Amino acid sequence: MSKPRKGDVLLSKFRTNMPPTNKFLHRFNIVSSPNCEFCVNAEETISHILFQCPRYRNPRLQLLKEIQALNPVYSDTSLQSLLNLDKNAKFKLRALEKLCLACKRF
Ligand SMILES: [Zn+2]
Repeated sequence: MSKPRKGDVLLSKFRTNMPPTNKFLHRFNIVSSPNCEFCVNAEETISHILFQCPRYRNPRLQLLKEIQALNPVYSDTSLQSLLNLDKNAKFKLRALEKLCLACKRF
């Protein structure tokens, strides 16, 4: 069996609600603060990284462009919608993976 790609491992952590974000890692005393290192006063969650943090604005815009190009149905770019396994799941997950890797956060 081949080694899972880094992006696949990340996506599976997102989907199982065990993302390597500061909020999650802080729960287990792995990092000292649950906050985003860039925003300081905001907890670093998946939603924060994917939808709010100004640090990841450019990769986020690229992701949204790719998702919306798929089908106008994806004007709903909520985390839930992104992680839903529908007929475009493979494409959406690859776009999400690209964003995660472009963020260089994980
Ligand atoms: Zn932030």
